Amino acid sequence: MKVDLHCHSNVSDGVLAPAAVAAYARKSGVDVWALTDHDEVGGIKPARAAARELGMRFVAGVEISVTWANETVHIVGLQVDEDNAGLLAGLADTRNGRQARAREIAAQLATAGIPGAYEGALNYVANPDLMSRTHFARYLVEIGVCGATSEVFRKYLTEGKPGYVPHRWATLGQAVGWIRGAGGIPVIAHPGRYKFSDTAEGALFDEFRQLGGAAIEVVTGSHTPDQYGTYAEVARRYGFLASRGTDFHAPGEARVEFAELPPLPAGVTPVWHDWFS
Ligand code: AMP
Ligand code: MN
Ligand code: MN
Ligand code: MN
Repeated sequence: MKVDLHCHSNVSDGVLAPAAVAAYARKSGVDVWALTDHDEVGGIKPARAAARELGMRFVAGVEISVTWANETVHIVGLQVDEDNAGLLAGLADTRNGRQARAREIAAQLATAGIPGAYEGALNYVANPDLMSRTHFARYLVEIGVCGATSEVFRKYLTEGKPGYVPHRWATLGQAVGWIRGAGGIPVIAHPGRYKFSDTAEGALFDEFRQLGGAAIEVVTGSHTPDQYGTYAEVARRYGFLASRGTDFHAPGEARVEFAELPPLPAGVTPVWHDWFS
């Protein structure tokens, strides 16, 4: 059974509509699939309908932006009720401020000699509530400022760079609370991607568990093969369930395609272990 519990559609910063992501996943051999758009569950209903048509088991998900210890951390929620009022209100609050941030990113890029980035990025946006750095990255590649979106992030959109605008997202407690309140399972997304010291990382895991967190991503397109082992060990040590997902955004843009992502290592308990029994 091939399970992918982390994917994006154009409801956030992916390029395909939810039903098209479902078709792409299915074509790649996925049997159990979650859509986990950033701070938004607007794609869940069409995704579920498409998954059903294609004979895939569907998991309603979301990836919530959190600020913890002055860094951005992503918390995935799986098996959430996408109609839960508390979750919807929390996500709406979290999305709030993305517009102003996008204007500020564009103003800074203009100062750096790249005018018109707001309008340019907007061409890539399907959901006006969710303007992401990714949309700016795609525009800067389009106009030839950089050759790839990863280069745009490195040169323009990360801390200390000319288009970087600091932003305060939800708290860890809020994200875990909204997910639990909606019947879901909170999962730390791609833990290997954060730049924490070992001590800070341990504090994140402890606090997450205390708040009601249950799982971490072990095999993700955002981890190196070495990190699959590292975070499998973390999952065992902290008693976290283990999750797996590509973090798909666009065909060809993926660091790891659906077909290339390995299974979870032995000795961890999959987050889906009791879902289908
Ligand atoms: P935002 O929520 O607007 O800050 O954008 C975050 C998104 O940017 C992430 O979900 C990724 O899709 C993308 N992203 C972040 N860092 C990089 C990077 N180094 N290369 C490519 N995409 C990135
Ligand atoms: Mn993204
Ligand atoms: Mn993420
Ligand atoms: Mn993601």
